Amino acid sequence: MTSTLTPDLTVSATGGLTVITHPLVQHKLTIMRKKTTSTAKFRRLAGEIAMLLAYEVTRDMEVVLETIETPLATMQAPVLKGNGIVLISILRAGNGILDGMLRLIPSALVGHIGLYREPKTHVAIEYYFKMPPNMPLHDAIVVDPMLATGHSAVAALDRIKEKKPRSLKYVCLLASPEGIAFVQEHHPDVQIYTAAVDQGLNEKAYIIPGLGDAGDRMFGTL
Ligand code: URA
Repeated sequence: MTSTLTPDLTVSATGGLTVITHPLVQHKLTIMRKKTTSTAKFRRLAGEIAMLLAYEVTRDMEVVLETIETPLATMQAPVLKGNGIVLISILRAGNGILDGMLRLIPSALVGHIGLYREPKTHVAIEYYFKMPPNMPLHDAIVVDPMLATGHSAVAALDRIKEKKPRSLKYVCLLASPEGIAFVQEHHPDVQIYTAAVDQGLNEKAYIIPGLGDAGDRMFGTL
């Protein structure tokens, strides 16, 4: 069954939250949500949405003019300013977003942070942390498909801030209102980008209606 929805905005931003309502993003996300979508298709769609999210999250990057020679003339042309972007993947599901973003920003450096959810308390426990050097020179973008309780996001942002990146943003595919509130409470300075905000969390801290376990669906470990 279908009904017609015509979004009037491709990006809806309030405070520290940007929801990317572009129809392509929404369509691809719907396919990812379906329980019948295969691992291969899920992974491909995660990569495609990640590219579209990367386009929005880098929209405010500064450019400077550089003198270049085209085959016909000399011109002043814009190039990205600064020492570039560090993409930081929260393992393991973040890697599905990371790959897509790297296709659009191939010069980005990459950091990894390994966190697992303690099953009873849902508190994030760190098992791996590796960042590129000279973080204060870089704009950092943290990627993780699901912003559920927000515990992993806050733990990751706490640790990354110790390295003092030039700026810090957080990108996910799906967010819960609870997760957004938790991140905004602890890191009000970090802009959150997401493709959708769902209803809330169930008793196991999964996003409802959501798309299930993003890592399992991405890597076929269901
Ligand atoms: N992590 C997931 O992969 N899915 C959820 O719904 C919540 C956390």
